[in-house]
Amino acid sequence: MQRATGLGEEVYQAIFARLMALRVPPGARITVDGLAREFNVSQTPVREALSRLESEGLVIKTHLVGYSAAPQISHRRFTELYELRLLLEPDAAAKAAATMTDTVLQELTEAAGMMSRAGGADERARYAQFAREDAAFHDKVLTVAGNEMIRETLAHQHTHFHIFRLMFHSRVTEEALGEHAAILDAFARRDPDEAARAMRAHIERSRDRLLPAFN
Ligand SMILES: [Zn+2]
Repeated sequence: MQRATGLGEEVYQAIFARLMALRVPPGARITVDGLAREFNVSQTPVREALSRLESEGLVIKTHLVGYSAAPQISHRRFTELYELRLLLEPDAAAKAAATMTDTVLQELTEAAGMMSRAGGADERARYAQFAREDAAFHDKVLTVAGNEMIRETLAHQHTHFHIFRLMFHSRVTEEALGEHAAILDAFARRDPDEAARAMRAHIERSRDRLLPAFN
């Protein structure tokens, strides 16, 4: 566990990590009772964690059936999502580079997931942490770019959580970290064209890394 923030947070993080690393595969049933017994906690923190995961689009609650892991995104949805990202995010990166300050650069560097590179936590926990950091990094770039409607549009897709569930592989994080570094480099040089190029390359490579999940 990354932070000592109480039982509810720990239970949430543990279930999140299982969903991200596909130990609870898409579509699988999730029982409150089963998790409560496994974690040796009452049902309350499990229920709270599941409703938070439901709001993040990772878990689905069906009347009279209960909880299950959200289904995998379809190939078509995946393609649409990457088209949307390629339309919006390179341009946002260029805008962010044009208004970059040292303070914002520092915040983006912290958000970029470089911390996950350090060893320690087990691979699945690291993978889940990177999924969250990747979401935060891209969200932060959109925030700096300044168009709130674009930021909201992408945030509501819970893009990163769905993408990371396509495949559990260390390559996904290792390569993405290098690509984030290239984007940060362009931000550091306040170079809008290079920032757009680096963001485009990152999103295209991310798409190509994950495409085999549909074969
Ligand atoms: Zn990324």
